[in-house]
Amino acid sequence: MLKTFTLILAGFCWALGARAQAPTYNYYFGNLHAHSSYSDGNADEATTGYSTPAQDYSFANASLHLDFLGISEHNHAQAGMQRPNYAKGIRQADSTTVNGQFVALYGMEWGVISGGGHILVYGVDQLLGWEAGNYDVFVARSDYQSLFKQINRRPGAFALFAHPQTGDYGNLYSASTAFSPRADSAIVGTPLRSGPAMSTNLTYSNPSTSSYESTYRTMLAKGYHVGISLDHDNHNTTFGRTTQGRIVVLAPSLTKLDVMQALRARRFYASDDWNTQVNFTLNAQPMGSIMQGTTDATISVNVADADNEAVQSLTLLRGVPGSGQNAVTVATAPAGSASLSYADAVTAGSSYYYYAVALQADGHRIVTSPIWYNRTAVTSTANAVAAVALDVFPNPAQGPVTLSYFLPSASEVSLEVLDGLGRQVSVLSSQERQAAGPHSYLLDARQQNLAAGIYTVRLTQQGATTHRKLVIE
Ligand SMILES: [Zn+2]
Ligand SMILES: [Zn+2]
Repeated sequence: MLKTFTLILAGFCWALGARAQAPTYNYYFGNLHAHSSYSDGNADEATTGYSTPAQDYSFANASLHLDFLGISEHNHAQAGMQRPNYAKGIRQADSTTVNGQFVALYGMEWGVISGGGHILVYGVDQLLGWEAGNYDVFVARSDYQSLFKQINRRPGAFALFAHPQTGDYGNLYSASTAFSPRADSAIVGTPLRSGPAMSTNLTYSNPSTSSYESTYRTMLAKGYHVGISLDHDNHNTTFGRTTQGRIVVLAPSLTKLDVMQALRARRFYASDDWNTQVNFTLNAQPMGSIMQGTTDATISVNVADADNEAVQSLTLLRGVPGSGQNAVTVATAPAGSASLSYADAVTAGSSYYYYAVALQADGHRIVTSPIWYNRTAVTSTANAVAAVALDVFPNPAQGPVTLSYFLPSASEVSLEVLDGLGRQVSVLSSQERQAAGPHSYLLDARQQNLAAGIYTVRLTQQGATTHRKLVIE
């Protein structure tokens, strides 16, 4: 389950001709939607004796194929939340986490179903609410844009849809609603499945049959940068045991920081199977990447199952962000094959997102998060070199901004911020030799005296440049 894989560097000509040391990710299997008695979970407390997050995490730690559990407590008293318990839950998560063995996360399921829908929030260590005396930070009921603002203020924080219904989150993904950059920055995922919420099954044999995949397709077609998750929504003492379905994250190690960063970077996928490993890359960049480049898109998908379960079908889909049209199949693996390669001769100026869907012989469905690729014009001088994906979060920003990227090989890196006239206003790295793997910087717009406006973040490595727009509010 913890087997590492190596990013495939095939098809690349590195400037120095040498193949650099390849970075590795591990696969970690978990669930981000559960409740303890601090809201309306542990409904079976009278018979099990389990009630606190700490007890629930220890239960989950003993569940099969479960490396992490997020308890997403309802944020309001009507569903049981009392303000002091939120901080207690966070402390219990931190003290129950054993690096390398089990990661416990504590967050909230924000909102009410009849007032705009439930959304999972992690990385905000203050209770966000609207009831007098029952919040750390006030956010009005049903005010999702203010919720996204609170998330975007905190580096590393993010939201995932819980069980999206038409009209939810301020009618966010309806065809008639304008794209919201603020929501796009805050939301990292939407589920393939959720629940069954009231299950008491402890034999991994009560999977959810609901599917929210159409919301995923719609969000991508609208231009949102979301990945796909899978949740259990436990309300009884069942953590990890009602179903084999998991959200799977790709992270360097099993620590809270690595798991949180992987989720923030959309480096995860939804799997009905509890130990299937999917390696999906575009020009050697991992799942979840938002990238630009001057080359064709070279895509590779590989599905590996430790139990040798057969792959029945494996397809690659492609869509145009913001087109309003769902992605369509562009490649299919030969029958029974667990891997697929696809070279897409993307025209300069085009933008696409790609994701893969695998079906196992036993009916288990696995859906990856996308990779977004924008092909820019080739500059006349340099050979075409693959650019690196650059994630700018939050964006728009009011406070600190996290800039993160993943180097497939060691290289000299420059990372700068330019103003609207192309003038350099901040230098985070200047031709600095950096190791292969993930890197991140914190840019404090206030400290750097960056006025409100539109900026460009420029990452240069191996002679290739990646640009990302940054809006300071
Ligand atoms: Zn819910
Ligand atoms: Zn719930």
